[in-house]
Amino acid sequence: MSSDNLHIVNHPLVQHKLTLLREKDRSTSGFRDLVNEIGMLLGYEVTRDLPLETVEIETPLTPMKARRIAGKKLTFAPILRAGIGFLDGMLALVPSARIAHIGLYRDPQSLEAVEYYFKAPQDMSDRTVIMMDPMLATGNSACAAASLLKARGAKDIRFVCLLAAPEGIAHFREVHGEIPIWTAAVDDYLNDHGYIVPGLGDAGDRMFGTK
Ligand code: URA
Repeated sequence: MSSDNLHIVNHPLVQHKLTLLREKDRSTSGFRDLVNEIGMLLGYEVTRDLPLETVEIETPLTPMKARRIAGKKLTFAPILRAGIGFLDGMLALVPSARIAHIGLYRDPQSLEAVEYYFKAPQDMSDRTVIMMDPMLATGNSACAAASLLKARGAKDIRFVCLLAAPEGIAHFREVHGEIPIWTAAVDDYLNDHGYIVPGLGDAGDRMFGTK
């Protein structure tokens, strides 16, 4: 389903794996594997309209004109730390992608995003950038990350998450309305602690076994 730059990926495999992920007794390794697999499936969706070019190749039988992805290498931009969970799945699809690491943490009181690390290709003006974070909650991290990428020249930015809260979508649209979002689901609301409900808990803690 797509509307207004919001793509909800209703593919049965994505929905099935998301349900497994949400279950509170899922093991750390099971959780990590599922995020990885969903990352690959969402990666397939978010790259659906990449431009192609025609090149001459030779098959064992004959020369032919064939299509390949045009333009510069993609950049994957995981928001640390939970965004890392999508990376292997996406890299399995596009092994030559460049990586922009965006280190942001959520101040537990204000829920504001605080930058602690940013390392990205120098000029991203002619690269498609796929920004990734499993949870679009308040939208503070996603907004800050997109601003950092834009400051490096990125123009074609796409945001991939696993779960989004309506509040996070509204906030992100207000600040970066031109950036399309791909998500597996839009949940009900954000609670007072900034958690998505029903959600899946703290994605970073569940992925890395830190709680
Ligand atoms: N980050 C998480 O990991 N989970 C939420 O529910 C919200 C933000």
